[in-house]
Amino acid sequence: MRWSNWSGSVECEPARIEAPGDEAAVAQRVREAASSGDEVRVVGTGHSGTPLCETSGTLLSLDRLAGVESHDTGAGLATIGAGTKLCDLGDPLLERGLAMANLGDIDKQALAGAVGTGTHGTGRTLANISSSVTAVRLVDAAGDVRELDDPDDLRALRVCMGALGVFTALTLRLVPAYRLHERIRRLPIEDCLDRLDDEIRDNRHFEFFWLPFKDSAEMKTLNLTDEPVSELADRPYERIGWSPHIIASQRDDKFFEMEYALPAEAGPACFREVRLRMRERHPDVVWPVEYRTVAPDDAWLSPAGGRDTVTLSIHQDGSLPYRAFFEDVEQVLLAHGGRPHWGKIHSLGADRLCRMYPDWDRFLATRERMDPQGRFLNPHLRLLFGI
Ligand SMILES: Cc1cc2nc3c(=O)[nH]c(=O)nc-3n(C[C@H](O)[C@H](O)[C@H](O)COP(=O)(O)OP(=O)(O)OC[C@H]3O[C@@H](n4cnc5c(N)ncnc54)[C@H](O)[C@@H]3O)c2cc1C
Repeated sequence: MRWSNWSGSVECEPARIEAPGDEAAVAQRVREAASSGDEVRVVGTGHSGTPLCETSGTLLSLDRLAGVESHDTGAGLATIGAGTKLCDLGDPLLERGLAMANLGDIDKQALAGAVGTGTHGTGRTLANISSSVTAVRLVDAAGDVRELDDPDDLRALRVCMGALGVFTALTLRLVPAYRLHERIRRLPIEDCLDRLDDEIRDNRHFEFFWLPFKDSAEMKTLNLTDEPVSELADRPYERIGWSPHIIASQRDDKFFEMEYALPAEAGPACFREVRLRMRERHPDVVWPVEYRTVAPDDAWLSPAGGRDTVTLSIHQDGSLPYRAFFEDVEQVLLAHGGRPHWGKIHSLGADRLCRMYPDWDRFLATRERMDPQGRFLNPHLRLLFGI
């Protein structure tokens, strides 16, 4: 039984792929794996470019544990099935007067998958999706269902790549439903860089894509509005809508991606060096570089943990070689203090990662306590954690 991720960069042959129908069935699968010494990995929608879900053991999909379990609009909280696709969550939340504070570039991921790698969108004051998790229900390595909301547990659990258990439901802190006004503009890249600080400060969401073949920037801003939903037909690059209908994009072409989270102050200089390197050494690459901002959070393994962050994402076409290009640009991103996105291609292992995260050892101790047999570890996670 073959499995491959979204881009096709990871393929494996799990002994079994299962989609349990309820939490008890998830627990049963984990207990069976524990008694047979089988490795267990969980997959969301397989949008990660790294081998996080690769396994020769049991691959579990939580697709059937989906939907809003309960909510409290006044408190801004909802408990949501871990397998819920983000694109299937927006409307049910809107019906309850609620919304997620932000989304990433797409909304095809499963909630637990997006949480597990620290998936983020853009916006100086907006932290990654995992930062909104206030409680976790999971099946642990012994096959027991546990509910965890202790702050230190959450700092380990929020970004843990499925290494601490199988999430079955997540409670999220949400915000009242809101509408956004989107504007897209194209400028010469130097003009974009000249106004970068202002754009980041003055907009709820700001990002730009540098288009190497034109050396221009496509800038996108999103801001809160009370105006009604509208396509703004007289203004082709603007529209207004409810947040879940506006934030995410549709990405149909397959691509490979590497992304590093940098200290915000290093962002502009790092981008300039990446741009120079690409123009000098990789002039054939036409895929854009994406520049975004993320607010800090306190998850121990969050790439945006503890610092205002700029993320730079490098792309290559899904049908072209990417490794040499990524490895070359990766040196620039590392030199500027970058931390790799867990779900996007990078070349790092524990020896370098351990120096990037002040609470690295606390995370490893928690992992050892929660899964002493390494039931949820695959070769890639062993490499990341140095186990
Ligand atoms: C086109 C595209 C656009 C993207 N845009 C962005 C973006 O804007 N911002 C960004 O930060 N990232 C982005 N990413 C990366 C993507 O958001 C992450 O890789 C995300 O983790 C993928 O979610 P998924 O549901 O596919 O999870 P998977 O890739 O299937 O899994 C990710 C991790 O979550 C774990 N996991 C999944 N379900 C569970 C569960 N129930 N319990 C415990 N662990 C679980 C898995 O074991 C794995 O470690 C993008 C990727 C693509 C391909």
